[in-house]
Amino acid sequence: MSHARKPEWLKTRPPAGERFTEIRETLRDHDLNTVCEEANCPNLGECWSGRDGPGTATFMLMGDRCSRGCNFCDVETGGMAPLDPEEPEQVADAVAEIGLDYVVLTSVDRDDLPDQGAGHFARTIEAIQDRHPGILVEALTPDFQGDPDLVGEVLDAEPDVFAHNVETVDRLQWPVRDRRAGYEQSLSVLRQAAREGDAYVKTSLMLGVGEYDHEVYQTLADLQSVGVDIVTLGQSLQPSRSHLEVSEYVHPDAFDTWRRVAEDELDFLYCASGPMVRSSYRAGELFVESVLRDGASVEAARRHARVD
Ligand code: SF4
Repeated sequence: MSHARKPEWLKTRPPAGERFTEIRETLRDHDLNTVCEEANCPNLGECWSGRDGPGTATFMLMGDRCSRGCNFCDVETGGMAPLDPEEPEQVADAVAEIGLDYVVLTSVDRDDLPDQGAGHFARTIEAIQDRHPGILVEALTPDFQGDPDLVGEVLDAEPDVFAHNVETVDRLQWPVRDRRAGYEQSLSVLRQAAREGDAYVKTSLMLGVGEYDHEVYQTLADLQSVGVDIVTLGQSLQPSRSHLEVSEYVHPDAFDTWRRVAEDELDFLYCASGPMVRSSYRAGELFVESVLRDGASVEAARRHARVD
């Protein structure tokens, strides 16, 4: 189906403007990667333009090449470089220059490293917190092959939001994700974060890869049962013809129905659901900020975060 024309609601404006250029130059100056660029995120133009504030960027740690090859993802596989020991400080510097007050950190998977990069991830969180007291840090991590010691290492760095993406329903883990990923493995990472950490626990689902409604409902119920607070749902997009085909362009009304199911029926604290919603695009930052920074109630924070 993916050769069908994209519906109107998936059209975006190309990145442009002074703020966009500033952020890009800062990232280059510090030799940093973002998942925004590496995964060709359609929202880059909006996020980097800073139309709604200082702008945001999701730093991608540990290089631009991943040890895995998920069929929906545009990040390059294999040929990973050694870790840059300066990266944690470089990220903290860039955060200051860009003027961020909410930072999202993610990374490629590094199954090739003894600790799969957990230590490096934790050091980056700590470098930012040391340099910018009061900043909010969201850590969107790999599954670390479900190793509780490695997940624990990141939790011990005390991010404000601990995120790990389950990506899709159980039946479609393969072929959507790399065979080393898995539904129960991802649930175990989220369950541990909910049990051991003080952070908000968050995950993301892509729709439009062939899932049935009852499977989406079951996945939301499973995520709720392991203690996930925040869930986002967005439309899968095919980065190139060699990637996973899109089975369906899900209508915005359907996304809105899932939002109400997640919040009103399954009691998630917050659900961002829409065709353009991504793990770190309009995905709860405003909700977390208003709860953690302004002490708002969940209802008030939801209203504040709800984006027309
Ligand atoms: S683990 Fe999968 S989704 Fe994540 S960067 Fe690697 S290939 Fe992409």
